[in-house]
Amino acid sequence: MSDQPLEARCDHCKQTRPLFLYEADHDFHLTGITCEWCARDKQPLLCTRCWSAEKQREENAPGNPDDNAAADFFVRAVQNNARILARRKADKATCDAIAAATEESPR
Ligand SMILES: [Zn+2]
Ligand SMILES: [Zn+2]
Repeated sequence: MSDQPLEARCDHCKQTRPLFLYEADHDFHLTGITCEWCARDKQPLLCTRCWSAEKQREENAPGNPDDNAAADFFVRAVQNNARILARRKADKATCDAIAAATEESPR
């Protein structure tokens, strides 16, 4: 037995080198839509060079547009909710004031 990593053909550069399984370190997406890395059914076995290149590429990849849209939507929904609640509170205060004024005034 040796603790040497498996030597085989790299899935990217096709050189025989010690290989490591590439695993995307994110499998959670807001939309449930997975990105290029999460969507692979089998992650490639890569040599260290290709592995680092892949990691770089993953880190530099722009976020999934649907994911970003979902995040934006969520933030906007929360802000909107706060606005609606504030508005309702203001409306209620107005209604209460009118009701109080109506009660006070003789019929
Ligand atoms: Zn390689
Ligand atoms: Zn992903």
